[in-house]
Amino acid sequence: MEKISIVVPCYNEEESIPLFYEAIIKEFKNIEADLEIIFVDDGSKDNTLLEIKQLIKDKCVKYISFSRNFGKEAAMWAGLNAASGDYITIMDVDLQDPPALLKEMFRLIKEEKYDIVGTRRVTRKGEPPIRSFFARCFYKLINKMSKVEMVDGARDYRLMTRQVVDSILQLKEYNRYSKGLFSFVGFNTKWLEYENVERVAGETKWSFWKLFLYAIEGIVSFTTIPLTISAVIGIIFCLISFIMIIVIIVKTMIYGDPTSGWPSMVCIIFAVSGIQLLCLGVLGEYMAKLYLEVKNRPVYITKETNVETR
Ligand code: UDP
Ligand code: MG
Repeated sequence: MEKISIVVPCYNEEESIPLFYEAIIKEFKNIEADLEIIFVDDGSKDNTLLEIKQLIKDKCVKYISFSRNFGKEAAMWAGLNAASGDYITIMDVDLQDPPALLKEMFRLIKEEKYDIVGTRRVTRKGEPPIRSFFARCFYKLINKMSKVEMVDGARDYRLMTRQVVDSILQLKEYNRYSKGLFSFVGFNTKWLEYENVERVAGETKWSFWKLFLYAIEGIVSFTTIPLTISAVIGIIFCLISFIMIIVIIVKTMIYGDPTSGWPSMVCIIFAVSGIQLLCLGVLGEYMAKLYLEVKNRPVYITKETNVETR
C-alpha cells in the first residue's frame, strides 16, 4: 500500500500533540494508505518532546528533536528530509490545518493526477484585523516584484508527490522561505479553499515583529527589485542635481549671489542622506543573506531522533 507522510513542526505544543494524533488516527480510518507522522520538536521548552515520546510505541510515529529553536522553516526542512512516504504533507500541530481535507486531497492527487494539492484560507477570521491588512499588502507587493507567484492565504498544508518533494530537497539554500520555494519548483497545483480555523490549544508563535522579518526574508529571497529601485532612485537624484546646478548657475549670472537658502540646504541634506542610508540598508540586507549563505552552516542540528538515516 502507498504511504502518506505527515511532517509536523512543533514548538511548545504539549497540549496540542495528543489532540492532533487522535484526530489524524481517526481521519486515517477513512483513507486507504499507510501513515507516517514525523513530529519535529523545534527546541521546545515545555513537555512537547515527552508528549511525542508517549506516542512512539505506535510504529508509524517518528520524531526529530532539535538542539535549540531553529524556526518552523528548519523544522519543515528536517521533516521533508526524513519523510519516506510516496505522498508527503506538512501540517500544523494546532489543528488549524483541518485533517478532514486529507481524504479529498489524496483523492485529487491520485485520481486527477495533480502533483500538489494545496490549501488556502479564504478568510482570516479570528486574526487581528491589522495583521490581516499587512498580510494582504505583503502579498500584493511581493507578487508585483517577484516572478514566482505567492498565493494569498496559501498554507504550508499541501499534499505533494515524492517527485515534488525531491525537487524541493534539491534547493539547499540556508535562508529558506518555503512559500516561495514551493512555488519555485512549479508542478500542477490544485487549491482547496477553506475557512480559517482557530487553534485547539496554546497560542500563536508569530509576533508581529517575527512576521515582519519573515516578510523581508521573502522579499530578499525571491526578488532583487529593491536593488534596482535603489539604483533608479540614484539616477533620478543625479538628474535632479544636474538640473539644479544649471538653474543656480543661470540664476547667479542674472541676479548675482545674495547668500541665503540655509533652511532649504538642510532639508536637502537630510533627504539625500536619508535615501542614501535606505539604499545602503537594502544592499546590506542582500549582503547579510549572502554572508549567511556563504558560511554554509547547517539549517538545523538534531539532538535526538528515531528516524533511521536513509
Ligand atoms: N512552529 C515551529 N517553530 C517555531 C514556531 C512555530 O515549529 O519557531 C510550529 C508551531 O508549533 C505550529 C506551526 O509551526 O505547529 C505554526 O505555528 P503557529 O500556529 O504559531 O502559527 P500561525 O498558525 O499562528 O501562523
Ligand atoms: Mg497555527
